[in-house]
Amino acid sequence: MYLTEIFGSKVFNDDVMRQRLPAVTYKALNTTIKQNKRLDPEVANVVANAMKDWALENGATHFTHWFQPLNGVTAEKHDSFISPVGGGRIINEFSGSNLIHGEPDASSFPSGGIRSTFEARGYTAWDPTSYAFIKDNVLCIPTAFCSYSGEALDRKTPLLRSMQALNKQVMRVLRLFGNSDVNHVKPTAGPEQEYFLIDEEMYNQRMDLKFTGRTLYGAMPPKGQELDDHYFGVIKPRVQEFMRDLDDELWKLGILAKTEHNEVAPSQHELAPIFLTTNVAADHNQLTMEIMKKVARRHGLVCILTEKPFAGVNGSGKHNNWSLKTDTGVNLLEPGDTPHENAQFLLFLVAVIKAVDEYQDLLRISIASAGNDHRLGAQEAPPAIVSMFLGDELTEILESIDAGTPMEGKEKTIMRVGVHAIPYFHRDTTDRNRTSPFAFTGNKFEFRMPGSSASISTPNVCLNSAVADVLRGFADELEGANDFESALHDLIRKEFHDHKRIVFNGNGYDEAWLKEAKNRGLSNYPSTVDALPHMLDEKNVTLYQSLKVLSLTEIQSRYEVALETYSKKINIEAKVMVDMARKQILPSVTEYQQFLAGTLNEKRACGMDLDTSYEEDTLSRIAAYTGDLFNKLRSLEEDLPRAQAIADNLEKAKFYRSNILRDMEDLRNIADTLEGLVSHEYWPFPNYTELLFSV
Ligand code: ADP
Ligand code: MG
Repeated sequence: MYLTEIFGSKVFNDDVMRQRLPAVTYKALNTTIKQNKRLDPEVANVVANAMKDWALENGATHFTHWFQPLNGVTAEKHDSFISPVGGGRIINEFSGSNLIHGEPDASSFPSGGIRSTFEARGYTAWDPTSYAFIKDNVLCIPTAFCSYSGEALDRKTPLLRSMQALNKQVMRVLRLFGNSDVNHVKPTAGPEQEYFLIDEEMYNQRMDLKFTGRTLYGAMPPKGQELDDHYFGVIKPRVQEFMRDLDDELWKLGILAKTEHNEVAPSQHELAPIFLTTNVAADHNQLTMEIMKKVARRHGLVCILTEKPFAGVNGSGKHNNWSLKTDTGVNLLEPGDTPHENAQFLLFLVAVIKAVDEYQDLLRISIASAGNDHRLGAQEAPPAIVSMFLGDELTEILESIDAGTPMEGKEKTIMRVGVHAIPYFHRDTTDRNRTSPFAFTGNKFEFRMPGSSASISTPNVCLNSAVADVLRGFADELEGANDFESALHDLIRKEFHDHKRIVFNGNGYDEAWLKEAKNRGLSNYPSTVDALPHMLDEKNVTLYQSLKVLSLTEIQSRYEVALETYSKKINIEAKVMVDMARKQILPSVTEYQQFLAGTLNEKRACGMDLDTSYEEDTLSRIAAYTGDLFNKLRSLEEDLPRAQAIADNLEKAKFYRSNILRDMEDLRNIADTLEGLVSHEYWPFPNYTELLFSV
């Protein structure tokens, strides 16, 4: 009862529109939404008026175009509804043009060189497929953000374009199968969000967490996640209260928060929503992250969304579940019951296999960031190599089609796509391969590489585009075929054969896989800096250009922004490390040394010939490590200005990766050793045990 009442209560959703808009307007708006048509200004005016009345009744005083610039967070600029009417009075005003169009100053957002100074304005345009909502008394209108010359400056625009491109190609394929009732196909996404909850008081004492979202120092606690007692363990009362409060807030915004549970690491949790059309899912995930942070504070907690807040402890990802859904409600990645349905399923399946193989580098790039580098390739996370898990049975089915042989233990027929039903295969969700970066999970794919703090837009743009590109090729070939059945069979067989190197059902964390992947010719870009330059490879530029998802200028701008962000992130981290070493670690260690030296002197002075081996040994070791620490600190301090002085973005990022990150790692190792020698009372900030086990 309560749930149905609050759910979507702050959203200008379909129900509200149906109630508040004149029937003709409602119909016109719906057509716009369903068919991606342009909105008539008259209609916009009526919608704006209804939206304003609804917003005012629900306590809103301001409105904003809500968008997702390339800096990774969401942006809003609040305007109040008031409009003077003379005599010191105001009326509430909000027009159709206020609704569909805004002009924020673009100069404060990253553009990677697109926005020249003489044209600093940008514009935002309403995305009517994502409902407006009220947050903190502000009516938020989800919008796309472009430069005045029309280039996308945000994450939403290319996502919408990629969805259109994908729709076009999927529809061509569906028509080939004789499907005439489907009018539209949209990709769906269900992003599972992982996060940490840390006690606010502890957090406030850690400069690194506050400024960078991850601990830059910290020795491993005696107890980590080795007991596996956290996952699905009892949720602590304080966390439970947070989750309840969070669900409430999300539900009011119409966000389908569904499952909440603990994750592998201590203090780590996950929220999984029910999947939606990708652009709406992306908006919702952005909002979810914002609200998680806000609600945590109310409970004396801090929500940490970065990918690797604690070295040696499980990192946080955002599993992007992906599928294709028709406007008639059919999931195109659901295996069917008839040979006909199966043939269609197999074609889409093989299309994704080919897309992931051909654009494995772009998928890696789509999730590349300084933060995610710490997570990828580390023990507990997907490796930086893209591969695909299909499960043994489905792989066997495809292999037997490829080889033209009957399947082991199955009826002795050689399977012909479109003629024979594919054998039933288990959609076992219990022993799924959790080490695979890209897994088929029965009726959808789960891309596990995205980092927990990043927008899901970019990986979905990549996925949609790659699959659209492959389907375009398939449709071209099949549309020209004399015998559709035969051509289809041959196509599925050939494409699986050519791209099956990407399929790997084994343990992705195994050392042997690295070698095997290399033999198969799969790309492996361990760091963001290795991966990013391939954004500009001809094949990748052609993909986005030919589908009109991104122009060359837009690709270049995204490339520059990604490089700049990488260097900036590491630069901040390095500066924080220097500060913590100089102002916190070294002074504390010195104090502790004084204490030890004092004790040593007193023992010696009392004339009792007391044993001083503890003081002497500890003092000399601390002194030696302190010297090392100081040296490393100095090299970091010397390297930093050198890094900052490099003008070329790629060279700069490379220097941050090879020099600064190495300095930081060395510095940390020494500091962590010192942490083990210095009295807890003297150590200047909370340690891993306190951070991870205090909630
Ligand atoms: P697990 O943790 O085992 O991966 P969950 O049930 O926690 O599984 O998460 C599965 C996610 O996949 C949910 O967010 C769900 O909404 C999403 N999902 C399910 N079906 C689809 C689909 N057809 N398209 C996109 N996402 C989907
Ligand atoms: Mg998952």
